[in-house]
Amino acid sequence: FQKKTANGNAALFTDELGRQQARETYLKEALVHAIENNQIRLVYQPIIDSKTNQPESMEALMRWQLGNENISPAEFIPIAEQYGLIKQLGAWALHQGCEEARQWQIHASLALSVNASVKQLQDDDFMQIIDSALASSGLAPEKLHIEVTESVFAADKEKLVEKILAIKARNVQVSIDDFGTEYSSLSVIQQLAADTVKIDKTFVSSLATSGYPIVKAVVNIAQALDYKVVAEGVETKEQALKLAEMGVQYLQGFYFARPMETVQLDKYLREL
Ligand code: C2E
Ligand code: MG
Ligand code: MG
Ligand code: MG
Repeated sequence: FQKKTANGNAALFTDELGRQQARETYLKEALVHAIENNQIRLVYQPIIDSKTNQPESMEALMRWQLGNENISPAEFIPIAEQYGLIKQLGAWALHQGCEEARQWQIHASLALSVNASVKQLQDDDFMQIIDSALASSGLAPEKLHIEVTESVFAADKEKLVEKILAIKARNVQVSIDDFGTEYSSLSVIQQLAADTVKIDKTFVSSLATSGYPIVKAVVNIAQALDYKVVAEGVETKEQALKLAEMGVQYLQGFYFARPMETVQLDKYLREL
């Protein structure tokens, strides 16, 4: 009986791995095609200043519709990283985002936040890609923010800190995304000299319980080290009010706005 169970599990396990591998290979092929044929697009979610209730910036988030299926960036970004596609994809997002953000300036002085993965930061051409996106769009460097997750700093710390400094030397701002989810959080915020920390949505959703002391601590540290604080994943009015009361100046989440397609964004900007 024992043996049979063990074999059964092993077979299941292999099966599951095989399925995952097959999907990954399929997505990788499709992604190459999607990049070549401009089938990836950006949507934008506002980051709201809780003092004025006005957007301060917009975060660009990639979207990919493959047939009837929307593939989440949480699934395809890791594939892009693994198969050497992230450089091209990331460069596209920077160019496209800057181009669109330049247009927004007609309506409001909004910044653009673009996510970058560790692979992009490690690339020797990253600074050139930023420079070229800024130059070709004409967007002011102050209006560009780069979001990096704190896990970025697990490996190769010195090099990445240097990169952050090079980004900042251009007057481009740096945000630490998903803050609090890695054990290294506190040392990272101190070593980095970035501009903004984005408190991860897990702490916002648990604000009534275990999230509270974490948010409180992050706000204190941020104040001491002169960081701006954004709370991600704000879904209710109660959370928004509580966070503002706790001293979190910037709020982002479905309560304020979902990530917007171009048409919705145009309307949103015109009504500001
Ligand atoms: P992120 O940068 O931390 O982005 C926040 C995610 O939370 C987004 O998911 C957003 O749609 C979602 N979100 C916003 N407000 C709420 C809310 O109130 N409640 C909940 N439950 N979720 C909310 P999305 O768009 O699926 O992106 C997932 C992740 O994929 C991003 O996390 C980011 O790490 C990565 N990603 C997306 N676009 C890019 C990109 O252009 N480049 C890179 N390197 N990574 C990207
Ligand atoms: Mg982000
Ligand atoms: Mg995040
Ligand atoms: Mg994330």
